[in-house]
Parts: sequence; C-alpha cells; structure tokens
Amino acid sequence: MSEDVTPIRQQYLEIKRKYPHTILFFRLGDFYETFDQDAEIASKELDIVLTSRPVARGVRVPMAGIPYHAVENYLARLIEKGYHVAICEQVGDQPVKGLFPREVVRVVTPGTLIEPTLLKGDRNNYLVSVVVEETHAGIAYVDISTGEYAVTEITGTDILSTLRAELIRLNPAEILIPDTLDLSNGFPGHLTRWANWHFEPGRCHEALLNHFQVASLDGFGLRGMSRAIRAAGALLQYLSETQPSALNLLTRLSTYSLSEFMVLDAATRRNLELTETIRNGQVEGSLLSVLDYTVTPMGKRLLRQWVSKPLLDLKTIQQRQNVVETFVQNGLLRAELRATMRSLADLERLVNRIIAGHATPRDLVALRATLRTMPHLLQNLSIDYPALQPIVASIATFPDILDLLERGITDDPPATLQNTGVIRAGYSAELDHVIEASRHAREWIANLEKVERERTGIKTLKVGYNKVFGYYIEVSRGNAHAVPPEYIRKQTLVNGERFITPEMKEYESLVLNAEERIRELETRLFREICEQIHQQGNALLQTARGLAELDALLSLAEAAALNQYVRPEVVNEDVLEIHDGRHPVVERYLSGGERFVPNDAIFEPGEIVRIITGPNMSGKSTFLRQTALIVLMAQIGSFVPASSARIGVVDRIFTRIGAQDEIHAGQSTFMVEMIEMANILHHATRRSLLILDEIGRGTSTYDGVSIAWAVVEYIHNNPDLRARTIFATHYHELTQLAEILPGVRNYNVAVTEADGKVVFLHKITPGGADRSYGIHVAQLAGLPKPLIQRANEILRELEQSAGKAVRLDPIMPQQMALFPETNPLLEELKRLDVNSLTPIEAINKLYEWKKRF
Ligand code: ADP
Repeated sequence: MSEDVTPIRQQYLEIKRKYPHTILFFRLGDFYETFDQDAEIASKELDIVLTSRPVARGVRVPMAGIPYHAVENYLARLIEKGYHVAICEQVGDQPVKGLFPREVVRVVTPGTLIEPTLLKGDRNNYLVSVVVEETHAGIAYVDISTGEYAVTEITGTDILSTLRAELIRLNPAEILIPDTLDLSNGFPGHLTRWANWHFEPGRCHEALLNHFQVASLDGFGLRGMSRAIRAAGALLQYLSETQPSALNLLTRLSTYSLSEFMVLDAATRRNLELTETIRNGQVEGSLLSVLDYTVTPMGKRLLRQWVSKPLLDLKTIQQRQNVVETFVQNGLLRAELRATMRSLADLERLVNRIIAGHATPRDLVALRATLRTMPHLLQNLSIDYPALQPIVASIATFPDILDLLERGITDDPPATLQNTGVIRAGYSAELDHVIEASRHAREWIANLEKVERERTGIKTLKVGYNKVFGYYIEVSRGNAHAVPPEYIRKQTLVNGERFITPEMKEYESLVLNAEERIRELETRLFREICEQIHQQGNALLQTARGLAELDALLSLAEAAALNQYVRPEVVNEDVLEIHDGRHPVVERYLSGGERFVPNDAIFEPGEIVRIITGPNMSGKSTFLRQTALIVLMAQIGSFVPASSARIGVVDRIFTRIGAQDEIHAGQSTFMVEMIEMANILHHATRRSLLILDEIGRGTSTYDGVSIAWAVVEYIHNNPDLRARTIFATHYHELTQLAEILPGVRNYNVAVTEADGKVVFLHKITPGGADRSYGIHVAQLAGLPKPLIQRANEILRELEQSAGKAVRLDPIMPQQMALFPETNPLLEELKRLDVNSLTPIEAINKLYEWKKRF
C-alpha cells in the first residue's frame, strides 16, 4: 500500500479486501459511502451522484454515498438486483487522535434480511443450503426472521428433479451451494456460490456441535446423514459471516422427511396453481387465495406452507379437520376469535427481533398490544371443545412480560432509541431522578434572572447563553460595582461585563448532559427489558406458532363456511369418491350469473383409468384439476367443495397439463411433455393420482394417439403402477380401450345446441363422446357448410386409411382455407359452360355428381 494514502483510505482498503465480491457500505458520519468500482455500481443501480474523493496527494477515487437513515430503501434495491452488501459501521468511541474504529457488522444478502420493511409478511424468507453427492442430497433451510431451521436428506436416481421440487416448494430467497456444484437454471431464488471447503463434513459437523453445545448430533436425528449435516453446518457458517446476531435465534434444528408430505413435483405445483397462478404469478386466483382468510402475518405464512405440503398422516389430517369442524359449527366463536386476532402483531418475527437484539421501542409496543389481547383470546378458547385442547395448550399469556412492558414502556415511544421518551416514569428511580434533576435545573436557570435581579438589586441584569461560555450573567458597566463577590468575571464588553457562578455552571452541566444521560439510561433499561423477554423467547415463539396454527385453521373454517365446503372422509383405503365436486377457484370466478356445474368423480372398485372425451372448452381440464385439488385440500385438513367425499390418502399427485405454455429453452414442447410423462411413469405408485390432459398433442395425430394409447395401457397393466388416472383427450380412438382393458372407463362432457349456438353443459357423463363431436361443434359454431362437409370427408378418409402411414397435422389451418379451391366438384362447375348444355345433359350431369358424392 502506498505510504501517502490517507489513513481513512488505508482503513477502507483493509476492510474491503475481506469483501471482494460484496458492495461495501462504509459509514462516514451520517453517510454510507461507497468507493471505486462499488461507487460506480451504486451510482448506476441506485441512481445517485457519482463524485470523487482525494485519497492521496493528487489522487482521487470515485465515491457515491447515501444518507444512513435512508439505507433500507437503497439496500432493498441492491439486494433485489442480486448484489450482496457489507455494512461497515463506526464502532466504539472516536479516539482523541485518529480514526473511528470500523468493522463490518453484517453482510446483507437476499436470504439474511431482517428489516421488516424489506420482508414480505405473507411468506417466509428462506435461506437454503444444498449439497449434492451423486444420488443423495442434503437440504437445509433457515428463516432468520422467524427462527425456523430445518434439514432433510433426499435420495434417488433422479436427484435433481426431487431437489428441484423441494426447492420450488420452499421458494427460497437465496440458495447457498458449493462453488463446485453445477446447478443449472430452473431453481428459484438467488444462487450464492461459496467456496467448497465451507461444506466439508468435519467442519460442518463441528459447527453444529459448537452451535448447539452438544457432544453428538444424534439427538437431532442426524445420525448417518452426512449431506444433511453438511448443508446445515454450511448455513451456520454463512450466517456467522453475514448475520452473526441471527445465530442466537437458531435454538432448534428439526429434521424432516419428504415422506411426511405428499410429493408434488414442480410441474404439478404450477399446473394446479397452488400458491400462484400460471398466468401472472399472483396469489389472486390460486388455491391459496380461496382458502386464505387469515388475519395475522404468521397465520398467513403457515397456511402458505400447508398448501405447499399436504399431509400423508391420517391422524394429523383428522386433527386439523376436527378443529376446522368445530369452528365451522360455531360461527360466533369463529367470528369472535378472528376479530380478536386481527389486532395481533407478527409475534414470530417480533420476538425474533427481540432475541437478535434488533428490536425497536415500537416493537415492544406491538408486543404489549398483542399480549394484552391474549387473555381475552384464551378466554374465548377455553370453552369446552376437545378438538381445541392441543392449540389452547400451546398458547400462553405471559402476564409477567405484559406487566414489565406496561410498567416499562411509554404509550407512544419514539421510533428509535436516538430519541428519548421510551421508558415510562416510575419504572426506574435512577432515570426519574435524572429527569427530575434536569427539569429542576432548567427551572432554576429559567428563574435565575428574576432571582438575581432581586438579590442584587440590579434591574438590568440578564441571563444569556452562548456557545463559548454557555450560560452567563450580563451586567451593564454602570452596575458592575454592585455584583456580589461570588460572580466570576469572564468577559468584558463595550458597555457591560459577563459573569458566571460555580452554582450556575453546575446546573448548566445538569441541563446539557441530561439529554445524553437520559438517552444512555433509557437504552440500558430498554436492553434489560429486551433481555428479560429474551429469557422467555422460546415460550413466546411456541405461542406464536400456536397462534399461527389457530389462525390458519380458522381460515380454513371461514373458507369452508363461506363457500359451502364439506368435511371429506379421509381414509387409508384405496378409494376416491367425490360427489358433486366443484373447482374451488373456477366456481369463484364465473362471470355474470353463470353457475358452476358440479360433477362426480366416483371411481368404481377396479376402475383405474377414466378417459374423458369432449370438445375444447367443455370443461375437461376444469374437472381434472378440481379432482386433484379436492384430494389435495382434503390432505391439507381443509374441507372440500363437494356435497360429500371419501378420499383415500394419496402419496403423490402428478399432472401433465397443457403443452402449449411450457416451451423451455432448447426443448420442443413435445420433448418437455414426454420428459414429464417419463417422470410420472417412473415415480407414480398405486397410491398416486395422475391427471393427464391431452397427452401426445404435441406431435402428429397418429404418433400422439399411439403414445397416449400406450401410456394408458402401461399404467393399467403395470402391477406396480395402476395409479388412479384421469385422462382427458381429443383422441376419440382411445375410447376403444374401455372395451379391451377392464379398468378403463369412458366419460364425456355433454354439449348441446340452443338457438343455433353451442352450449356447454359442463356435465361429465358415462360413455364415450359422439365420434364426430368436434365437427358437430364446428357446425354449431357456424363454420361454412362446405367446410363442414369437407371435414366429414377427411374424417372418413382418415378412418379408412387408419394404420397406414398417413400424417396429418392435427390443426392444418392453411389447408382449411384452401378447401373451396381444391374441391374437384367446384372446379368442374367453374369450367362448365351452362349455355351450351341441353336440359337433359344438365340433369345427367347432376346425377353423375350426386353419384360421386
Ligand atoms: P377444456 O379443458 O374442455 O377445454 P376447460 O376445463 O378449460 O375446458 O373449461 C373451459 C371453461 O368452461 C372454463 O374456463 C370455465 O369457465 C367453464 N367451465 C368448465 N367447467 C365448468 C363447470 N363444471 N361449470 C361451469 N363452468 C365450467
């Protein structure tokens, strides 16, 4: 380093060297400054002025700064764009000579946010770490805003697709991976590559032992799970480098298994629009949106988790159902509880901020308000409903903390500890004393002029204040002889003298230092209060989770009551019987007085594949999806849109829907479709539910029919598979399968005509559709007659040539437009000279044509 750079530049460079790939926010007084390349990036991305600063004689470097109080907004924008930001603060006191000591207190990354303004209240902000070893992978995740910390290990030949499905479920803000791991695109969240050695097994094992202060990890259920240990250990190390205060929050590590939950692959999550729509990625219009009547942020987050991971365990499902049923039956109780809960703060994140030492005075006010409502809430819940007992047991009231907050914190404290007025009078004798002394000193000084005038008899005596002397007493020259002996002369003016007294200086220092002293005391008392709350942090978090659960269950009950859902009978048997099922989302969005037509999905014993034929827009996809959604809702513990239902627990739902909108880079639509189909056939079991829409559509008709046919046969005949399947298709040929395979049934969607218009009845009825329903619909829709005639011809030709190598594009738009020109009859008619025909020739011609067609 060059000798002549300024000391502050030297300090900057030393710190920056440790954070090469991070933008360094360097605190200088009221600003965070960025330098060099960081400044160029910041100025460009944040739209702030790029200036420069001298760092040595004749040398200037680029600089861009932001005011410290507006840092959150700027941070948000940089994080959003994928940058990491190291926050370097002035720490400790400024030495008499030289620089403030400075250090990086935190590195902000998408997965380590804690600022309430940067976090979305309705979802978790997960930081995930992933380790892959051939056919095994470890996944650990943490949400430092709620303290959730969990880990799992997955295995399988197709490890990346299982991994992808789990990551899509978690929807992390940031994924941490070893820099040697080759994770391609298609994973959600910001990817952070970190040096491989952080993920070394020994190191990670050690990090976990140290963190939890234990001698073995067996107690966490981590025995033999080396990838899980690597993933979880790497997370700890990453947090200790980026956000060390968050480590306090991680008091538990839970090991989970994907086998506790219904497996939903990425395509299925998307197709069923569980938490967001395909069209615009918004919550509105998703399954979550019709179930979400939560009134607290923690309840909202939990419900989102539930919708993303339906259960497999019958007992847990039934426990949730029992609570939902209790609330459905007691509308008044439900309304009261929801009204009370509306005022609850985000207890989970609040308590975590307190534990991490980031709480503000207003956080404590929010906690106090929440604790005030708890007794009322519990009183409502205490009525004798057996189903509610486990929840009631998980919610505590914390009277001692409430008392502490009532006594300790003022009604409306300032937003930060920079300002005084946080601690209530009467809480601390020491603080009260300082405040009282300061008030007294002010009064004393305020009265001084009057008192001294009277005492000295000098009518023109004045008390003033300036920066150099502080308070002083000014007496005009003519009266100078009358001042008392204890006055100390400080300054002589043209026509007066200024004095001070020792007593006055004492009061002055009381006034001037009081503010600082009060701030210090309030900060200390505030921290002590936080510390006492921290002691009960785990119990508070448990209550927060209990409240989240209560809110989520109330929400399901509210949805059930408002939308006329019923309790499904969920069983561990091989059944699927939905009576009058409805699509929970479509029924909510039907326009102009249209009514949703309910449909049964009652599988007879032995029925494996249900083939549904019907024209476009008749309601096939809706029926498919609604069946999947009803099963899924049942396993969440929700009631379902049907008149009754009996549902055997399903291990996985697979969907293959809509080839059109999934054109991935470099893969043809058909390829994507076939890859997904392969995935389904490899992973489905007898307990799975398969939803297949228009398989084979992405290729020519005959390829398509053949593939679709073979798929049905394979599912039906493979003893390990035989998964219950609903198959919607255009291919009428497939209806023949019902005659060959005993487990295949045909259904179709009814269409009719009224006033010359096609009317979709949306009713699914047994039997295959009329073979030419498509052309029939085209006719109803008013396509030109000759075109319809020609279409019938082509249909006949196709049928006759079945099995031969005919290849027709199923859509053929251009050919359709050419029909009139290529019709041989029309051509002949055009060429015919009618004037030269005798009547008998004309009638013969007509007969001839009639014979030909
Ligand atoms: P398909 O898959 O046969 O092309 P869709 O399932 O996409 O048809 O349904 C088309 C439209 O018809 C839907 O957007 C919905 O508005 C309406 N629809 C579908 N099923 C029903 C139903 N059971 N009751 C009322 N309207 C329905």
